[in-house]
Amino acid sequence: MTITSFHPPRRTLMGPGPSDVNPRITEALSRPTIGHLDPEFIRMMDELKTLIQYAFKTQNRLTLPISAPGSAGMEACFANLVEEGDKVIVCINGVFGGRMKENVERFGGVPVVVESEWGRAVDPVKVEEALTEHPDAAILAFVHAETSTGALSDAETLCRLAKGHDCLTIVDTVTSLGGCELNIDQWGIDAVYSGSQKCLSCVPGLSPVSFSDAAIAKINGRKSKVKSWFLDMSLIMGYWGGEGKRAYHHTAPVNQLYALHEALCILQEEGLENAWERHALHHRALTAGLAAIGLEMLVPEKERLVQLNAVVIPEGVDDAAVRSQLLNAYNLEIGAGLGAFAGKVWRIGLMGYAASKSNVLSCLSALEAALL
Ligand code: PLP
Repeated sequence: MTITSFHPPRRTLMGPGPSDVNPRITEALSRPTIGHLDPEFIRMMDELKTLIQYAFKTQNRLTLPISAPGSAGMEACFANLVEEGDKVIVCINGVFGGRMKENVERFGGVPVVVESEWGRAVDPVKVEEALTEHPDAAILAFVHAETSTGALSDAETLCRLAKGHDCLTIVDTVTSLGGCELNIDQWGIDAVYSGSQKCLSCVPGLSPVSFSDAAIAKINGRKSKVKSWFLDMSLIMGYWGGEGKRAYHHTAPVNQLYALHEALCILQEEGLENAWERHALHHRALTAGLAAIGLEMLVPEKERLVQLNAVVIPEGVDDAAVRSQLLNAYNLEIGAGLGAFAGKVWRIGLMGYAASKSNVLSCLSALEAALL
């Protein structure tokens, strides 16, 4: 059998990610591939660092895109900051907090789990109790925007609590970056990772990360080597470390990096705060429309993510049948529930380029038709 070229259908992506990709970004992908040590490529990478600093609101010198998806950004933070025996307070209020715990264990740390109800923000009172009970804890880790449930946690308060107990912070911002307020330096986040495929509306496969000076000091003071060669920041710093010298570390995914550069240019053109407001505006429109067709939201209003809307599936409705109808009849993808919420909620993404008036309207009318 001769296999021919793959031509995917054109979908509207309103699930938990990847989100719709801006055509400017797909055009950027098709630009000529050049060498990853070409002076022009290096110039582009310097700009990319500045653009990521803009999106994260940070001056951190160690700010870069990891050449792999958000999960690799997560591993990069834990692999570099957690040493054998380090106590790490891990907040779990959904699937991705659970993955943080896995990372702590795999890198030899001792997790202290703070559980909060799924569908709710991380409870700062419980975090303060854990920090007080474990004065030897080195790190506090939590997910800012829990994509599995649609809950937003108060990162500013959680980081302030951590600082009060001399703890570094690792924060997952895979779904929050570009979609809602995020302020790395002002909030005092020490290690942060994100993903290209959510509110940046870029193609999947890259993970912007950033490390504070305190995090770099912990990395430089390690007694043991980082247990991952690829994600060892002390080696990656040889490429990104400054002074114009660029040591070969790995072959950069050249065209994908053009795409991230373009995505961040688009964000800068719109303005970060305007992008946050656009996500909030379309969230308000979507939730008003969902209420009008009798659907309820999972997360209490004050703790809701604007870019990921968890909707309770009404009793007696066939989850998979509705999602298939949206996909087959309208080319519209919404997300299924994850983990404990499988079959119980739909996750409707309004991320990046997909956070638009026309998407809100077509999603509401398609859902209404499917539920008739
Ligand atoms: N963390 C959160 C909150 C996520 O939503 C995701 C992906 O959905 C990840 C981590 C993992 O990112 P990736 O799938 O890009 O590896």
